[in-house]
Amino acid sequence: MQYQNMMDYTTIEKILSTPNPFLTDPETASQLRFDALKASFKHHFINNVPYQAFCIDENIKPALVKSRSDLSKIPLIPSDFFRDVSAAEGIVDSISSVPSEQIARYFTTSGTGGQPSIYPYDLISLQTINRSNVIIFDKVGDIDPNDYVLFLTPSPEQADTGMVQGMYLTLKGLLQSPEKQVGFAVENNILDSRLVIEELNEIKGKTRHLYGPPYAFNEISDQIIEGGLEINLDLESKAFTTGGWKSHKTGQISKDELDAKIEKAFKIKQTNVRDGLGLTDIMSILLECEYGSKHVPPWIEVSIRDLNDPTWQTTVPLGEGGLIAFLDPLIGSFPAYIVTGDVGKLDISYNQQCNCGRYGPTITYLRRAGDPRGCALRQEHLMAKVNEAK
Ligand SMILES: [Zn+2]
Repeated sequence: MQYQNMMDYTTIEKILSTPNPFLTDPETASQLRFDALKASFKHHFINNVPYQAFCIDENIKPALVKSRSDLSKIPLIPSDFFRDVSAAEGIVDSISSVPSEQIARYFTTSGTGGQPSIYPYDLISLQTINRSNVIIFDKVGDIDPNDYVLFLTPSPEQADTGMVQGMYLTLKGLLQSPEKQVGFAVENNILDSRLVIEELNEIKGKTRHLYGPPYAFNEISDQIIEGGLEINLDLESKAFTTGGWKSHKTGQISKDELDAKIEKAFKIKQTNVRDGLGLTDIMSILLECEYGSKHVPPWIEVSIRDLNDPTWQTTVPLGEGGLIAFLDPLIGSFPAYIVTGDVGKLDISYNQQCNCGRYGPTITYLRRAGDPRGCALRQEHLMAKVNEAK
């Protein structure tokens, strides 16, 4: 089969290039998102042999996706499937929708069970995703191009996770002189409060933000408070937390407790402690606004699927919990139609405005799903298609 890029970059450009996509009229945004998704589904269906076979078994083809209500029919891939594919030698490329020679980079997520997932990205997808993340941290995170960001993580040379690599790329796109405006606080696996304070004190005339996983914030805040080293950051300083507690679960504290600790250690007000729900499969993030609501950007179609329906085609009403699923039209290198292992609910719909003025939806994470119905079966089915296509 001859490769043909069917992605609709004109529509993607329309979505991303408005002055603030989070303020785009919902009707317009919905139409653009649908057009971009329709094209991307066609692209993956035509160019991805195992995904096409999977869709055919599910009786879904691009011609059947005619209106927005049909989007829930697009066959979803369980997030854990990428982990299984990554564990099997040499098949990551076979889940790709672009020819191998177009894959520019692989991104790794550390995963919950320690087993990494690897995702192939071509150059255009990488640039588009990066651009979309710049918009998120600019328009929801309110990071200014002149600001400074200290990562409570190792540098990208020492950490190949999407959380570090992705954010670093984002800041390279957002900050004026990234090499002077980004720092990393973890050296040789050690997060040292004295170094953090030193680094922050050296930065003059710039708003200073912090970025890292919650356990790092917890650890550094404890060190600072216990050592009597509290520091006054700036009025607009923010603490961006993301990535969960992973293997640090024993020390886990509630978000309120963590926010209070961060406020005490850094004098960052609690409305400026912004958690982000990382969509690690697509290198994106649902970031909290000043009202503590996690915003879905207008280019991503998020829906909540009924936990009792193993086909995952049923969505649940607003406010009800279910599996978080998302369709991303920006990635051309693999079908980014993912059902996560997380249970969440939508707080407001795409047509509603959050208290902050940005359009919805906003989402609340509830819990891990455990082993949702139908998940193992789907993974097996997909893996069979991958093996047949080899
Ligand atoms: Zn908001």
